[in-house]
Amino acid sequence: MVKLAIDGGSPVRKKPFPEWPIYDQLEEKLLLEVLHSGKWGGATRSKLPEAERLFAELHDAKYAVTVVNGTVAIAIALQAAGVRAGDEVIVPPYTFFATAAAPLLFGAIPVFADVEEQTLLIDPDQVEALITPRTKAIVPVHIGGAPANMTRLKAIAEKHGLRIIEDSAQAAGARWNGTGVGAIGDLGTFSFQSSKNINSGEGGMILTNNEALADQAWSLVNAGRIRDGAWYQHEVIGWNLRMTEFQAALLIGQLSRLEQQMAVREKNARLLNELLQDVDGVSPLATDPQVTRHAYHLYIFKLHKDLADKLNKSDVCRMLNAEGIPVHEGYVALNQNRAISEEIRKRTGQARRDSCPVAERACEKEALWLPQNVLLGDEQDMHDIAQAIRKVVQSV
Ligand SMILES: *Cc1c(COP(=O)(O)O)cnc(C)c1O
Repeated sequence: MVKLAIDGGSPVRKKPFPEWPIYDQLEEKLLLEVLHSGKWGGATRSKLPEAERLFAELHDAKYAVTVVNGTVAIAIALQAAGVRAGDEVIVPPYTFFATAAAPLLFGAIPVFADVEEQTLLIDPDQVEALITPRTKAIVPVHIGGAPANMTRLKAIAEKHGLRIIEDSAQAAGARWNGTGVGAIGDLGTFSFQSSKNINSGEGGMILTNNEALADQAWSLVNAGRIRDGAWYQHEVIGWNLRMTEFQAALLIGQLSRLEQQMAVREKNARLLNELLQDVDGVSPLATDPQVTRHAYHLYIFKLHKDLADKLNKSDVCRMLNAEGIPVHEGYVALNQNRAISEEIRKRTGQARRDSCPVAERACEKEALWLPQNVLLGDEQDMHDIAQAIRKVVQSV
């Protein structure tokens, strides 16, 4: 049998994968323009409106509001949509902490709807089963860059009079049935934190097609001002959550490369899907045919049940890392996060812990990630990944 790298054998791969972030003279030029203009932020906006326009167009949205990050983008979008303390918001458990923390930051209660086995995206049947008179909104998360089933979720939201806020932090550029994510629901939120596919160091955006909701969000982000009001006219209680012109400069630069990078990620993901068909014991996540553009912030694959029962997921990660493949274990299911459960208990007086067996099993035993930059490599890189996975799987 071939000796694994973790046991002192030769690793499948010694070369690094493409580094992230990627930038060139365009970002240099745009950043220097901001520097020399003296307009770095505050009331003067020059690059910000352009970044907002480009990003809204990319997602077929009419209105965009830039904010400091993707976490507050969710909290502000929920509040703009009318969600208040004590209201329930249905979220998936297989996502980053912020999806459930954002409602709790202003006293709204996340309720966890389990994900679909095949996609790890929020399961519309589970959502519908959890609706109560207190439910105000659904927050589907387009995890890894794959849109959740927006057709079914919209039908459910319409039937029950609920708002949809799409957490699209990982899905810049993704499309569902030909329409950009973000404004398919009532509002959508994005993150430009440094690991995301569009990177401005930190940053976020809220998109919507609803002018009133856009104005509400804008006010909450701009110290309670109104769009055409005077500088010292404050009509509601709001934060200052504005992005700077430097971040807008980076966004414009990064957006110029998105289409080309998306095409490379999609092509490599297709190849890796094919190669993994020939590896026993693992499968990539399924993609709904209605996902017409997958943003591949993550390439997620699962260990089959028999293999996952034999092999510890952390060990598989360590073995693959030793082979030169930067696989990651990913999330802990948020319905099992103690800080979240504790806060829900404090707010509701009830020790509720939603059970989400699919997400829990994916987190504990099955789901593994490759980060987006790995998909920016070439064909040989994908062959190396498949070969390393085969080597590790065959070692058991
Ligand atoms: C990154 C991320 C966020 C939070 O964005 P920040 O800009 O880091 O605050 C929220 N939801 C998901 C799914 C994310 O991946």
